[in-house]
Formats: sequence, C-alpha cells, structure tokens
Amino acid sequence: MWDKGFRGRYVLIEPTDYCNCDCIMCTRALLGIENPHKVPKGFMDLEVFKRAIDGLEFGAEPLALKLFWVGESMLHPDFREMLAYASEKIKGKNAYIDLHTNATLLTKPMIEFMLSLGETLPRITFSLDAMNPETHKAIRRGGDFDNAKQMIMYFVKERERQHLKFPRFIFQFIIMEENSAECREFVEFWSSFLKDEVKLNLADAWPLLSNERRVELLKQNWVYEKFMELENGA
Ligand code: SF4
Repeated sequence: MWDKGFRGRYVLIEPTDYCNCDCIMCTRALLGIENPHKVPKGFMDLEVFKRAIDGLEFGAEPLALKLFWVGESMLHPDFREMLAYASEKIKGKNAYIDLHTNATLLTKPMIEFMLSLGETLPRITFSLDAMNPETHKAIRRGGDFDNAKQMIMYFVKERERQHLKFPRFIFQFIIMEENSAECREFVEFWSSFLKDEVKLNLADAWPLLSNERRVELLKQNWVYEKFMELENGA
C-alpha cells in the first residue's frame, strides 16, 4: 500500500501552512496569494493534533494519514512528537503515515527517528525538482539544496546499514522550463543511488507552461516515455 498516492482513503492533517521555501510552482505562487486557506497561517496545536488522531476510524480499506499540504511540516516544533503519537496510534491498524517534504530541513536526529517508525511510515516523497543547486535555487527559492541532497543520501545509507525496509523513497520532479534539461540526469542519479528501489513522480507544471510547450517538453523522447511508463504504473 505504500505506493498508492492519493488513490484510496486518506485523511489530511496539515501541521503548519508555513514554509521555509517559496517555490515557483507552489499553490500560493500559482494563485498569487500568500494564504490559500484564507485563514491566518499557523502551527497546529499538539493537543488538537492528538485529538484528530484519536478520532480516526480504521476499516478494511487502508487509510493514508497525510501529514502535509501547503507548508513544510518539519518547520513545526512539535512535528517529531506528532509523528511519534500518530505512529503509536496506527500501529497494528490498517493505516500508514504519508509524508511529502522539500527535505531541506532534514537532520540526522530526525532521520534516525523516522527510521525507528518502521512500517507506520512506509514512504516519504522528496520534492527536489533539480539536479544542481542553481536550478534548485531558481525553483525552490529559499531552500538549502546541499543539505537536502546530503541528508537524503544519509537517509538512504542509514536505512541500508540498519537493514530496514522502510521508509521507501519517492523522488518528485515537476518538469518545468527551468529544470527540464536535467530531468534525465536526476532520474539516472537517484535510480542508480537507490539501485532498483527508486520510485519517481514525474509531473508537468501546469499551468506554468503553455499547452503547446507542455506537450513539447513531455514529448521530448526520453521524458515522454518515462512519463508514460510511470503513468501506466511501471
Ligand atoms: S516546499 Fe511545498 S509548500 Fe513549500 S513553497 Fe514549496 S511547494 Fe509550497
């Protein structure tokens, strides 16, 4: 169930709608509004979070507990405690935590902790969208690319060293004018680093691209083939 994406049953709890980045393809940049929720931004109170988790209902269909949306959850000072609480509550249930992060705030202690969560945190999606720091700087404005890359590599190595199965890693690459030239290098680098385990999310940055340009970029031989392969679940 770890690779089901947004299909199936899920609950979305956003610990914060603050972010340390200002990405050009973020909902807020695309809509031109700082706060897409139209309420003051904030950090969810830990007790409110716990009550929400306590109210979850489990059933025959797996439940994904998505702990992110238009913010970077690792900015929340209680995020580790939130993860610990949710993990404990869903242990042995038909549920799992799903996390997307820009990875720029990852630290070794957080990685060690995440590795201890076992199958309650079966996957993490890293939203990188770049292979080199300059591209990352242009797209994921304000994020520390070098830290993100180093920490992800440490994560992979530690999981391997500890002979752990989870979390599995998904690498996201949103194809845009700014990064399309390094899409192949990105896929090849992370595929070879994780050997045959890597799962990639390739998407196109509608509406940043005109329809014509979108089709043109996607149809560039290799990108289009890879995109279709992933769309078809290969
Ligand atoms: S990291 Fe995610 S939430 Fe933050 S600005 Fe970028 S796209 Fe938006």
